[in-house]
Amino acid sequence: MTAPPAQTPARRLGSDVGIDGLSVAYGDHTALRDVSLHVPAGTTTALVGESGSGKSTLALATGRLLPAGARITAGSVRVGDVDLTALGGRALREARGRTAAYLAQDASAALNPVVRVGRQIAEVHQVRCGASRAEAAELSQRALADVGIPDPDRVARLYPHALSGGMRQRVIIAMALAFHPQLLIADEPTTALDVTVQAEILGLVSRLQREYGLTVVWITHDMSVVAEIADHVAVLYGGRLVEHTDVLGLFEGARHPYTRALLECFRSGRDAAPKEPYTTIAGSPPTGGVPEGCPFHPRCPEAEARCGVEVPRLEGLAADHVAACHRLEDGR
Ligand code: SF4
Repeated sequence: MTAPPAQTPARRLGSDVGIDGLSVAYGDHTALRDVSLHVPAGTTTALVGESGSGKSTLALATGRLLPAGARITAGSVRVGDVDLTALGGRALREARGRTAAYLAQDASAALNPVVRVGRQIAEVHQVRCGASRAEAAELSQRALADVGIPDPDRVARLYPHALSGGMRQRVIIAMALAFHPQLLIADEPTTALDVTVQAEILGLVSRLQREYGLTVVWITHDMSVVAEIADHVAVLYGGRLVEHTDVLGLFEGARHPYTRALLECFRSGRDAAPKEPYTTIAGSPPTGGVPEGCPFHPRCPEAEARCGVEVPRLEGLAADHVAACHRLEDGR
């Protein structure tokens, strides 16, 4: 078999992602319930919610990257024309390599500490594109330059520990692009970075996304990151999708009480005077079982009797805007 030529990522990598009725369980704990979402090719959807909301589970399930012990119990995930949920074994491993790349929060853990960073990227090019060792080394340096690393020849010869957190994250992004992914899943990759470096990494991913037309799913709890990079936002609570809108709809017309509470916390943190307490959401997210009815009802200041009994359905509010709350008709 002839190996395909070595290459840098072709333009317009991204594919439509379609998630339909997806449910995921860890043992007998259901972590995600009946989530449907469409991520158009070349756009970024931010998954937002507190810890335990299901956002990481949804992102990992979308790339069929769930850890051992987790299983998809219902629904499907399609990336481009590939139904990832219909595949298993070798077919799944091959499809997964072609479709999704994952940016971890902790770049150090994702790199091999005893292999020079240039070699780590080169290995991806050798495996993914069939590049020769010499071609892969050249592509590795090109990839480092592409993610804004100055002096890539020198940096390629360094071990991960010699790089700053921001540089390590750039190396991880270079490796992710070497897979030529249709979908990039970013798991809060800027959380551990200081504000200046975070802004640089967000700018880098935005540029690469425009350049390569990547489809991106970005997990975050930070609304300033959402404002910076997202086209659409999916808000999760208790393993359910509770609101999905374009980014303007989020900041100018959020309708679900949980989304509005998250925004209130964000604005209070941003605008608070020194020593002024931040706004928080009373109570805690569900950890074991999810309550009957609306999962947010024990913490919702607007709850009424039926909220503890009936699960609200997602209702269309505008093009690109749905929310699940019994009180939408009240103009909330
Ligand atoms: Fe609050 Fe009821 Fe709406 Fe749930 S359905 S968010 S409890 S008002």
